[in-house]
Order: sequence, then C-alpha cells, then structure tokens
Amino acid sequence: MVPQPKEKDISDVRALILAWFYRCQRSLPWRQNYHPYQVWISEVMGQQTQMERVVEYFTRWMRLFPDITSLALAPEQAVLKAWEGLGYYSRARNIRRTAKILQEEHQGQVPADLQALQALPGIGPYTAAAILSIGFNQPHPVVDANVERVFARLYDLEEPVKGAAGKKTVQGLAALFLDRENPRAFNQALMELGALVCMPKRPQCSTCPLQKHCLAFSRDTVTLRPVLGKRPDRVDIVMACGIIQHNGLLYIQQRLADDIWGGLWEFPGGRLEPGETPAQGALREILEETGWQVQLEDAYRTVTHFYTRYRVTLHSFFCTLKEGQTRPPSLNAASCYAWVNSRDLLQYPFPAGHRQLVMSLSNRNTL
Ligand code: SF4
Repeated sequence: MVPQPKEKDISDVRALILAWFYRCQRSLPWRQNYHPYQVWISEVMGQQTQMERVVEYFTRWMRLFPDITSLALAPEQAVLKAWEGLGYYSRARNIRRTAKILQEEHQGQVPADLQALQALPGIGPYTAAAILSIGFNQPHPVVDANVERVFARLYDLEEPVKGAAGKKTVQGLAALFLDRENPRAFNQALMELGALVCMPKRPQCSTCPLQKHCLAFSRDTVTLRPVLGKRPDRVDIVMACGIIQHNGLLYIQQRLADDIWGGLWEFPGGRLEPGETPAQGALREILEETGWQVQLEDAYRTVTHFYTRYRVTLHSFFCTLKEGQTRPPSLNAASCYAWVNSRDLLQYPFPAGHRQLVMSLSNRNTL
C-alpha cells in the first residue's frame, strides 16, 4: 500500500531536496540547455552505464550527430561505432530508427507528448517520462533505480522494489511527491540524491538533506533497504574464435541483421560444445561459419566480459588458411566479410569480447 504522508512532510521534502540539488548537482553537458534531443540520448545512454562513461560517450556523440537530422542521415555502421563499448546495441539501432521517424513524421523534433513518444522504437514508459519531465519540464514522475532506493529507505519499504506491489508503491510515492511546479528539477534531484548521497553501499546519511524524514535511518534499517529479491544466477559461457591471417590481413565478418549483435563485426567463432577444447571449438566454428579449413598457429588472448547475467570467456587463436582454401567464405553466420589490416580494425564496430581483442591487436607492432 502506498504510504500517505502529510502534506507538510511532502512540501518539506520537496523544499529540502530541491535546495540540495541547486547546491550540489553535477555539471552535466545536457544540463546546459536541456534540449529534448540531448536529454533523450543521455537517458538511453545512462541505462546500465556509469555517469563518467555516459558523459564521455555523450560528448563524442554530439560532435558526430549534433541534431536529429544528422543522426537520421548517418549510416548504421557509424551509429554502432559511436555506441561501441556501451553494449545493448539494440538501443543504438532503435535510436537511429527513431531519428528517422522523427525526421520524416515530426519535422526533426522530439514530440512533447507521452503517447507519441511511447510509439517510437526503444522509448518505453521510463524514457518517455524522463524526456517529458527533464526535456520539457512537464509533470511526469520518473522512477529509476536511484528513485526506488530513496523511497524504499525514506519509507522503510519491506516489499521488494522490483516486484509488482513494490513498483506500484514507489510509483505512487513518486507521483505524490512530484513537484508539479518544478518537475524538471525535482525528478533530477531525486535521481541525483540516489546517485550521490543515498547510494546502494555506504549511503552518506550524515550529510543527507532528508535525514530527519527518513524512516530507515531512524529505524536503523538503511542497509536492509531496498529489498531487491533474488538475483538470477550467473551463467558462464565459454567461446572460441579464430583470427585468420592471410597476406598480412585479418579476416572479419559482419553479424546477420536479426542477430543479437546484428550489424557488428567479429572474428569467426562461437560457443564451445560439451567436451570440446577451445582449439577444437575454434576449428569447428570457423569451418561451420566460413567453410574454410584452417591451421591453428598460436593461442592469442583469452578475454572475459559480462553481459546481463552471463560471464563470457572468449579464447582466440591465430590461424592461417590451409592450402587450397582459395574460394570466398561461405558466410553461414554473417552477411558480409572483409580482409583488413590490424590498424583499420578500429574503424569497425565490434561486440565487447572481440573489441578487447581488436584493441590489443591494433597495439601490436607486427602481425
Ligand atoms: Fe538515504 Fe540515509 Fe538519506 Fe535516508 S538518510 S534517504 S538512507 S542517505
């Protein structure tokens, strides 16, 4: 059930948190003018990504695509390259699709309307509310993980905040507390407080402007809130790939458009089958994907990266084509291919594991 605070407490909390925000907010590039296009991009980039990285990517993005028109006209490869390293590449593809729709149907502008926003690819209730409140100063509550944490502690909520009942409670509180005169500042203030003061670990209660209103603080339950529920178990995945060398060039292929990392590039490879060694897996995958028989030369690097609940270990091997393998690859798992030198690899967008290999290959003097 949504707690029912007194009107006086609501207005106190609003005033305290706004005063704190005006004093302590971070200087972020999209806060200079709150342009809706910039707010939209910053919100999508900010999902699952630390703020320093968001600022770095956002700044580069705005140099490449300063407005919706330039984004709508950009090739998909350029957009994926600008997104490379942020993960969840469907977000980048959706941004580009949305830019094209905005260009064709909304005169190159972000619409200031909830329904119109939610009809666009990749814009759900959270992003739509954030764009409207931060970009247009419209009164929509915005609930992210920071806001969930602040309200879970402020009201010492025992229900898991990710469960249906907990979500409803937090959404209700966010609507109740929303400063309708000042939604842009208020929503950002809540999120900022969660990011800088009411942090998941070691919250700074001694300097928190809401301390005297905080039930978890007065009951000494801060470390128990929010209740998150059980996390899914981590799944380990082991993969292997081949870095095929031929005449001083390296073979790469582009993943199929409907694939999870569609449009990105990679070295041929895939998941190991039960009982396979990484070397055997690399040979099998290369044969299946390209039709080529290759000779494994040296093991190269083994890299690890995390993707949602998966920990992916990727083994890589230098390989050469066996004699007689002169025909083009059969492209059984790719839409096209290229032979490139190690420096030019950097011009192509790669998913996380392959990107680590590319970075180290491009730093090698010789191949
Ligand atoms: Fe969070 Fe502590 Fe502030 Fe409560 S007093 S809102 S737990 S930082």
